[in-house]
Amino acid sequence: SQFVVFIIITYFMFILGELIRPLPRPLPNDILSLHIATRLRTDPNSIKLASSDYGNLVQENSIAVLYPSSIDDIVTLIKFANNCSTPLISISARGHGHSVRGQAMARDGVVVDMGALSENGIGIRVSSNRNPSSGYYYADVVSWTDYLYLTVGGTLSNAGISGQSFLHGPQISNVLELDVVTGKGDFITCSKNMNSELFLAVLGGLGQFGIITRARIILQKAPTRAKWVRLLYSDFSIFTRDQEHLISTNIPSYVEGSLITHMSPPNNWRSSFYSPSHYSKITSLLKSNNGHLYSIEVVKYYDDQSADTIDEELQSLLKDLGFNPGFIFKKDVALIDFLGRVGNIDNQNSEGQLETHPWLNLFVPKSRILDFNAGVFLDIIARHNQTSGPILFYPFNRNKWDDRMSAVIPDEDIFYTLGLLHSSRPDQSGNFDKLNNEIIEFCEKAGIKIKQYLPHYKSKKDWMKHYGPKWNTFQETKTKYDPKMILSPGQRIFNSVD
Ligand code: FAD
Repeated sequence: SQFVVFIIITYFMFILGELIRPLPRPLPNDILSLHIATRLRTDPNSIKLASSDYGNLVQENSIAVLYPSSIDDIVTLIKFANNCSTPLISISARGHGHSVRGQAMARDGVVVDMGALSENGIGIRVSSNRNPSSGYYYADVVSWTDYLYLTVGGTLSNAGISGQSFLHGPQISNVLELDVVTGKGDFITCSKNMNSELFLAVLGGLGQFGIITRARIILQKAPTRAKWVRLLYSDFSIFTRDQEHLISTNIPSYVEGSLITHMSPPNNWRSSFYSPSHYSKITSLLKSNNGHLYSIEVVKYYDDQSADTIDEELQSLLKDLGFNPGFIFKKDVALIDFLGRVGNIDNQNSEGQLETHPWLNLFVPKSRILDFNAGVFLDIIARHNQTSGPILFYPFNRNKWDDRMSAVIPDEDIFYTLGLLHSSRPDQSGNFDKLNNEIIEFCEKAGIKIKQYLPHYKSKKDWMKHYGPKWNTFQETKTKYDPKMILSPGQRIFNSVD
C-alpha cells in the first residue's frame, strides 16, 4: 500500500508540475509579417531539437527555429529583435548542438539553425583557391579538431583544439577573414587588418558579438598516410617530460596524452586502438601500477616522397623517450582513417539508452601539473569509482595563441588541456558534477590557476574571474556590437543570476 501511495503522490506531483510550468511565450504577431515567416518553425520536432544538446543536461525551450535560406534572413531576424518592444527576443546560432550545457539554446527566443544555410549552398565553407570545395562539417573539408562533426562557427566561437594545436595553434589562430552579422544586425567583413576589434572578439567569443556566416581559414595540403604510435607510462613526470620534448621538436604532426584507469579504459569511443592481446597486456600493467597509467599518442603524417625515410625519422624521434619498456604500439594507416577515428556519435549509448555528458574541460598551467596529478588524477579521480569516459591531458604552446582574441588561456608558455569526457546515465550525472566541482575547488584551494575551456559558469562574478583582465574589453565590445544582449543567451554571461 505504501507503494500505491507513492505512485499516487508522484502522479499528482507530475500533474501539478505540468500545471505550474510557464507556458511557452507565443511568437510575436509582427514577426509573422516578415519575409522570413515561412522559414520560422514552431513544430514540436524543431523546438525539441533546438532545446536540447549533446550534454542532455539542460533544456531551454525556444519559441521558434529559423532555418535561414540566406544571410539576409539572419540580418532580418536580428534587426527585428532589436526593434522589438519588450519583452526582448534572444537569438542563438546553433551549429551542431555539441555543447554540453545549453550554450546554443535560447529560452523564449529564436534559435538559428546554421546547417540550413549550408543546405542552401551558402553556409560556412572552407575552400582553397586551387580546389574549391564547399561543405559544412570538418569531415568534409579539413581537420582541426579530434572530432570532425563539429561546425566551423561553433568551434571558432570556442577555440578548436586538438593534438595538432601545439604546432598550428588552435583553429582560431588559423582564420584569415570572417563575415559576421552583429547583434545589431550589421553585416561586417573583418580580419586582423579590417574591423580587427570585431574579428578578435568573435574568435573564441562564445557567440556573444555576432553570427559568423563565412570564414576564410588557412589550409594545407594533407599527406596521405599516418604513422600512429601509442606509448604507455607508469610515471607522470616522465610522461609529461616526454610530451613537452615531443612538442618542442616540431617533428610530430600530432601529440596528445591521456590517463588510463579501470574507469577510463584504453579503448573507448574516441578510438578503438588496441588488439585483444595488447589490451590484456595493458590491463595487467594497469593492475600492477595501482590502477592508473598515462598514455602518449604521437602521430607523424607522411606521403610517397617520405615513405622511405619515415621509419628512421620516427625511430630517432622516439629513441630517447622514457615509456615503459615493451609498451609501444604502432599502426600505419591512411591519414583519412586516422582523422576519422572518432566516428559520428550521438548522445545514446550502444544499447540505445539516452546518456548525459557532464564534461569538464580545463587548461592547466605547466608549473602546477605535478600538484594537479597528485590532487586530481591520483586522489579525486582515483576515488571516483564510476565508469566515466576518456580523460585527455596534453600540452600546448602559448605562442601559437593570440591573446588579443576572446579565448582565455593560462598565463604560461606551456599549458595542458584536461578533457574529462564523461558519459553517464541521466540519474547519475549529479555524481559527475560533484567530481567536477571537487576538481575545481581543489585547484582553487591549491592556487592552481586553471581556466575552463568550453566554459560554464552560473554567476557573473565567475565570468568576470574567468576573463580576468580581459573582462572590461569583453563587456565593452558586447555593448558595442550587441547592446541589447540578444545573442547566445545560453552561455549565461550577461544574463546570469549573480
Ligand atoms: P554549438 O554547440 O551548436 O554552438 C556552440 C556555441 O557557439 C553556442 O554559443 C552557439 O550559439 C555559438 N555558435 C554556433 N555557431 C555559431 C556561428 N556560426 N556564429 C556565432 N556563434 C555560433 N572541441 C574542440 O575544440 N576539439 C575537439 O576535438 C572537440 N571534440 C568534441 C567531440 C565531441 C563528441 C563533442 C560533443 C564536442 C567536442 N568538442 C571539441 C567541443 C566543441 O568544440 C564544442 O561543443 C563547440 O560548441 C562546437 O560544437 P557545435 O559546432 O555543435 O556548436
